[in-house]
Amino acid sequence: MPVTSYAIAIGSNRPGAHGRPEAEVRAAVATLGTVIAMSPVIATPPLGPSSRRFANAVALLESAESPADLLARLKKIERGFGRRPGRRWGARVIDLDIVLWSGGIHAESGLTIPHPAFRTRRFVLDPLLALAPDWRDPVTGFTMRQLAARARAVDRRPRRS
Ligand code: ADP
Ligand code: MG
Repeated sequence: MPVTSYAIAIGSNRPGAHGRPEAEVRAAVATLGTVIAMSPVIATPPLGPSSRRFANAVALLESAESPADLLARLKKIERGFGRRPGRRWGARVIDLDIVLWSGGIHAESGLTIPHPAFRTRRFVLDPLLALAPDWRDPVTGFTMRQLAARARAVDRRPRRS
């Protein structure tokens, strides 16, 4: 494969061998390979039925790997950081998700790119906005700038109780 770009979302809500979640995120990014840009590490309130705060970041990676090969490698890195498979919402030392690929859409054998949930996740969109504001989501046609603005507008909407 020629070299392509991937946007990787990194999250941690449990301390591990490197220390606090923020240190786990930085250590994971350091193992990814050719990282051409990394966002700041931000603190995010718990997602789903978990009670732990997350540290989140996004990195832009250049790689000649296919999406499937990259996912297999990311899962190995997760296991190396002590993540136990199968606990979707639980405490996790590291979570590595493929958000975007310069090759466009990939939907095969349990791997979906763009990541199906990223369009509503501020902790992915805000870092992406800083790194790649003009990257266009191949599914909706919106740029990261547009998706981040939409997510912010949703968060500002008054809630009914
Ligand atoms: P989540 O990341 O949604 O919190 P998991 O990390 O447990 O949950 O992911 C569940 C599975 O989703 C992964 O094991 C992987 O096989 C699959 N998956 C599908 N699409 C992607 C993607 N774009 N990036 C990462 N994993 C993906
Ligand atoms: Mg994941």
